[in-house]
Amino acid sequence: MRGFVASPGGRLRWRSLPAPGRPGPAGAVVRPLAVATCDGDRAILLGRTPFPLPLHLGHECVAEVLEVGADVSSVRAGQNVVVPFQISCGACGPCRQQRPGSCTGVPPVSMYGFGVVGGLWGGVLADLVAVPFADAMLVPLPDGIDPIAAASVADNVSDAYRTVAPHLPRLLARDPDTEVLMVGSLTRRSPFTSSAMLYGGLIAKILGARKVHLVDARPAVRSLAERLGLHAHEPDPHRHWPVAPLTVDATTTPSGLRRVLSHTAPDGICTCVWSLHHRGGFPLVDCYVRNVTLHIGRSHARTSIPQVLELMTKAKLRPELVTTNTASFDEAAEALRQHCGDSAIKTILVAK
Ligand SMILES: [Zn+2]
Ligand SMILES: [Zn+2]
Repeated sequence: MRGFVASPGGRLRWRSLPAPGRPGPAGAVVRPLAVATCDGDRAILLGRTPFPLPLHLGHECVAEVLEVGADVSSVRAGQNVVVPFQISCGACGPCRQQRPGSCTGVPPVSMYGFGVVGGLWGGVLADLVAVPFADAMLVPLPDGIDPIAAASVADNVSDAYRTVAPHLPRLLARDPDTEVLMVGSLTRRSPFTSSAMLYGGLIAKILGARKVHLVDARPAVRSLAERLGLHAHEPDPHRHWPVAPLTVDATTTPSGLRRVLSHTAPDGICTCVWSLHHRGGFPLVDCYVRNVTLHIGRSHARTSIPQVLELMTKAKLRPELVTTNTASFDEAAEALRQHCGDSAIKTILVAK
């Protein structure tokens, strides 16, 4: 089968890789239909993450189930499914407690598409993908939802959801004018894209926030934010950013997190979605006196995916509004080279 491999120096190409064998009793083999870039994928492609190249790319997809093992009962061949980016067993303590990102049935941080760091599960930008625990992981795509629209639900849309949905209803009950502040890149040269901030803005509006602010240094992100009904701000001067009870830090830097914390209102909640630095200074007393809750960590994607799909079917969440390029698998190398440009936000690759 073909798998798409990113190598050092910007070399991007399909390669012939071993196809998965027949699934084990709990497993499935799926065929990706639509694969989305993650906000971290551009940084991976540019070699600016701790994930060493070469690696088999891709961890967000909607796929068609081709074959399931004898013990699988929740999905069947021919069904379209969202494949969570994290591998989880469904049977260990954390999985049973809806914390699949901390699954102890597989090695820590087991994920598709992160090379050796995520374990050797392969990437989903491929003709075929092995899913080791089909009942635990796969979520059927509801009728009427386009696989291309839902491709990023496997990670970035669900990641955005968990920064907003668990907190916003309670904050809105306290104050119906609760505002939300999403902060993406503070420099134009950031290797990370900002789709999750835009998804988060859409979700916050659907859940009732009247005013959602988005800070990003890149004009393309700000203009898309405005078209989506968000209030876009340039990073400087940061004293002009609003102070909000619900904030999200996707700056990817410790200094960015400090700024976002300083714009988190008293008794507010800040979620930091990217933290690949080993250490960073932290305004402890500022947070202490304002009772700020800071959550740093990865999502538990499998837990949020059904809730995101329900928002898509019932509340008309439309992740496709954030997509900036759609291309075929055959065009993947060129599309991903374009994705490394400054104005790219979300690229979706579609199997033929
Ligand atoms: Zn990701
Ligand atoms: Zn588990």
